[in-house]
Amino acid sequence: MMTEEIRDTIIVGTGCAGLTAAIYAARSNLKPLVLEGHEPGGQLSITTLVENFPGWPEGIQGPQLIENMRVQASRFGTDFRMGHLTSVDLSKRPFALHVGKDALHARTLIIASGASARWLGLPSEHALIGHGVSSCATCDGFFFSGKEIAVIGGGDSAMEEALFLTRFATKVTLIHRREHFRASKIMLDRAIAHEKIHFMTNTAVDEVLGVEQKEVTGLKLRNVHTQETSVLPVSAMFLGIGHVPNAKMFAGQIDLDDDGYIRTENNVYTRVPGVFACGDVQDRRYRQAITAAGTGCMAALEVEKFLEEHGR
Ligand code: NAP
Repeated sequence: MMTEEIRDTIIVGTGCAGLTAAIYAARSNLKPLVLEGHEPGGQLSITTLVENFPGWPEGIQGPQLIENMRVQASRFGTDFRMGHLTSVDLSKRPFALHVGKDALHARTLIIASGASARWLGLPSEHALIGHGVSSCATCDGFFFSGKEIAVIGGGDSAMEEALFLTRFATKVTLIHRREHFRASKIMLDRAIAHEKIHFMTNTAVDEVLGVEQKEVTGLKLRNVHTQETSVLPVSAMFLGIGHVPNAKMFAGQIDLDDDGYIRTENNVYTRVPGVFACGDVQDRRYRQAITAAGTGCMAALEVEKFLEEHGR
C-alpha cells in the first residue's frame, strides 16, 4: 500500500461543485487534491449548450464550461487524480480515503460527488443521449422548439419538465408506467390543465427509435396491462424519473436522508467536523450548475476557516 502526504483538503468530484471548491481552495494555497470518479465533469459533461450560466451571453457547451473550470483550478495549483474511491474512514484524523491499494489522507474533506440522473437503462436510450434523449429540460428543451416531445415519469420532476417544455414544444406527451402519480397535487393539476400536455399512463418505453439516424424519431411503447405496443413519433425524450445521489460510499459515517442525499446544515456542514458536502449530492431541490458552484465555493471557504481554527 502506498501512503501519500497528508493533504489539507481532498475534494471528491469534478463537477461544477468540486471544481469551484478546488478553485477557491487552491487560491487559498491549500493545494487541494481532486479525485475524479466514474463520471468526470459530472452532469455538465453530458449536457450540450448551457445558456443559463451567468457570464456566457451566447451560452457555452457543458463540457467546455467544465474544462474551463478545470484549467482555472489547475492554474492555482490543484492536483487531479483519477480513480474510484473504494472506501473512506472518517472516524480517525486525518481522514483516510482509499483508492484501490492507495491510501490518501486529508485534514478536511469536501464531498462533491454529485447525483446521476436515473435512466431507463435501454441500449437505444444510451445511444441517443445528447441526440434527443436528455435528463435536463432546462438544459436541452430549447433545442426542440416547434417539435413534439415525450417526458417520462410520474413525480414532480416529470411534471416540472413537462410544464417547462411546453414553452418550446407543440405537444408534450407525459408517459408514466402506472395509473397513479407520485407528483404533488398542485404540480399534477397544473400539468393536467395545460392544453399542450397529454398523458399516457400504464405505459412503458420499450425502445427509443432513431439510433441509425442518430436522432430521436419516436418511441416504441407498451401498455403494461394489455402488452399492446404502439409507436409515438417524437423528436425528443426527457427523463424525469429521479436522480440518484452518489453518496453510498459515505453511508454510516455521515447522515444521509431517506433518498440517500447527504444531510447538511448551514448549507455545507455534515455531522462530521471537517467534512463538508456541496452540489447535487446534498441538493435535491435546485440542482443547477450555478447553485452547485455556489455551494462548492461555500465548502472551500468553510474548509479554510476550519483549518484556521483547528490548525493544520
Ligand atoms: P420521484 O418522486 O421519486 O418520482 C420518480 C418517478 O419516476 C416516479 O413516478 C416513478 O414511477 C418513475 N420512475 C422511476 N424509475 C422509473 C423507471 N425505471 N421507469 C419508469 N418510471 C420510473 O422523483 P422526482 O420526481 O425527481 O422527485 C424527487 C423529489 O424532489 C420529490 O420529493 C419531489 O417532490 C421533489 N421535487 C419537487 C419539485 C417541485 O416542487 N417543484 C420538483 C422536482 C422534484 P413510480 O411512481 O411507478 O415509482
